[in-house]
Amino acid sequence: MDLQFKAADGSKRYKITKIYVPEGGSFQAGAPLLKAESGKMNTVVKAEQAGTLKKLLVKEGQEIGSGEIFAQAEYAAGTSAAGGQRGTVGSSSAASQRDAAKAAPNPALSLFGKKEELSCEIAVVGAGPGGYEAAIYAAKQGKDVILIEKSKVGGTCLNVGCIPTKAIVNSAEKYHMLCGLEDIGVSCGQASFDMHRVIGHKNQVVEQLRGGIESLLEANGVRLVRGTAAFQGPKELLVSQGLNRTTVKAGHVIIAAGSRIADLPIPGIHGSNVLNSTTALDLEEDFDSIAIVGGGVIGMEFAGIYASLGKRVHVLEYEKQILPTTDPDLVEVLTEDLKGQVDIRTGVRVQEIRESENGQCIVAFESGGRTKYLVADKVLVAVGRSANLDGLKLEKAGVELTENKRSIAVGGSMETNVPGIYAIGDVTGKIQLAHAASHQGLVAVDCILGKDRSMEYDFIPSVIFSRVEIATVGRTERELKQAGIAYRVSRFPFAANGKALTMDEGRGFVKLIAREEDGKLVGAAVAGPDASNLISVLTLALTNGLSPEAIISTVFPHPTLGEVIHEAALGLTVGAIHYHE
Ligand code: FAD
Ligand code: NAD
Repeated sequence: MDLQFKAADGSKRYKITKIYVPEGGSFQAGAPLLKAESGKMNTVVKAEQAGTLKKLLVKEGQEIGSGEIFAQAEYAAGTSAAGGQRGTVGSSSAASQRDAAKAAPNPALSLFGKKEELSCEIAVVGAGPGGYEAAIYAAKQGKDVILIEKSKVGGTCLNVGCIPTKAIVNSAEKYHMLCGLEDIGVSCGQASFDMHRVIGHKNQVVEQLRGGIESLLEANGVRLVRGTAAFQGPKELLVSQGLNRTTVKAGHVIIAAGSRIADLPIPGIHGSNVLNSTTALDLEEDFDSIAIVGGGVIGMEFAGIYASLGKRVHVLEYEKQILPTTDPDLVEVLTEDLKGQVDIRTGVRVQEIRESENGQCIVAFESGGRTKYLVADKVLVAVGRSANLDGLKLEKAGVELTENKRSIAVGGSMETNVPGIYAIGDVTGKIQLAHAASHQGLVAVDCILGKDRSMEYDFIPSVIFSRVEIATVGRTERELKQAGIAYRVSRFPFAANGKALTMDEGRGFVKLIAREEDGKLVGAAVAGPDASNLISVLTLALTNGLSPEAIISTVFPHPTLGEVIHEAALGLTVGAIHYHE
């Protein structure tokens, strides 16, 4: 039997740092055989079955790549790794698992599957940004943690959400930028775009990050159990994968099961040219036009991508404004930028998607009481996400849902109605953002550890990575007006910022909102270059109750985009220096 080295990041060379079993030595199922490192990534290859190491083909200090054979072994028939899912990255290749299964068939195993019982202090269901961060944070504080995942570590965010979209946004933006460089005196011939390589880069980034998380779980002693978890009782989960069944008994459970694409009852929504946010991430085929159903965050991020690639883009949004909950001033900066490239229709309801004889999509939508039609090569549907509640068997634990039955009800400590069972992230229906899920996870763990913590939602930043970045934190003018709270507002444009102009990025502005009563900053927003990074400074200021004066007394380096924050703070007091309204 050849033993193969399999690393999470297959593109890297690893250095073998430890060989655990000498030639001729025997090993138990699950025992470590070899450890290798590359940068921060550690990979430990573990034995799938008990056996004897017949021949070693490598030495410590030597380099090895994914897929290379490092030893030959003989397996003892009928053995397999107890808790075969323990350990993580590269803990042996799928190929070697298949080979092992062939070499040592075990009828009991293949007919009835494995059964095992595990116990831990904290079991976390779901390895998205909520679950895996909570698991590592708890393990770092000495807790014995089991993390259960039915699909890929990293969840929606890493595999089909935040990271892959941003990789493609980055490629599309760079292409768009190259096409317009002549204005600033740079010419680089004909720019081109290769979707196959763009997706390849996206996949490589995702795999690298996934491998990193798996290594971190292992390094922190978090046991990863693969399979779908369902409650059997308040503190007992049954994890099923194929025929295998693992019972996990836990002192505390954190449900971090996330969300999935909402299914809208629109006829034709599953047509062959109709995409969703997951399938669009792997679309290599070229096309000329696309209709995007839903002008929310996902819709507008993809609209930015396709507009940058020169496609004809239509956005069909049900509400009166795209990005309906976002400050209209900020949305205007984006719509202005997309003008002429993206046809945005608001206040329309998509009714049906049909396929024409030549394979195009005909989108029927209601607008002003009339049915209208639009033809496009592709349709992308992005109309929201629903909490993953199915299959968890919450009723067996007695966990209650929110009033609308769409999410799990939790309090400030993230605990559900059942003591010891917590829920975090998209499954709670609070805010569907990765950093909100992660933060809720840390709060849940702290509460389990007996610390006095409560989740605060006032200053959770949010970023829309469209052709213009829009970032917000705290309250909006609309919210303050509705609540009858008096406020002052200051806007400073990027057009008056030296660095922005050197970058040929004069669109947009920063907005600061201070409460009239005590001058405290209660809201901030940025539409324009690097808004996604600038909002962190503002989030720090708002979360810590800083006044505009505190920002004014802080020295900002010159020339930087960050100076817009200093200027906007001045705008709330004596007035901005480089701008006069
Ligand atoms: P998830 O990431 O959904 O993870 C839940 C995990 O639980 C999954 O891996 C799932 O397989 C597993 N699971 C579910 N049920 C079970 C079960 N019964 N047993 C075992 N495992 C189970 N947010 C941002 O903050 N920034 C962005 O830029 C951003 N971009 C996005 C782009 C797109 C296209 C999408 C779709 C989303 C984006 N989001 C973004 C939202 C973000 O991805 C989610 O808010 C975040 O992933 C939620 O984290 P979570 O841990 O709650 O759940
Ligand atoms: P969303 O709620 O942001 O937008 C969905 C949009 O579809 C809404 O504006 C809604 O009015 C519209 N809509 C619904 N039915 C319609 C119909 N029949 N016809 C036309 N329009 C219709 O949801 P999403 O864009 O799918 O994103 C899901 C979640 O993922 C969001 O809550 C967001 O928080 C998260 N996300 C975040 C980021 C980020 O942080 N950068 C990026 C992508 C997604």
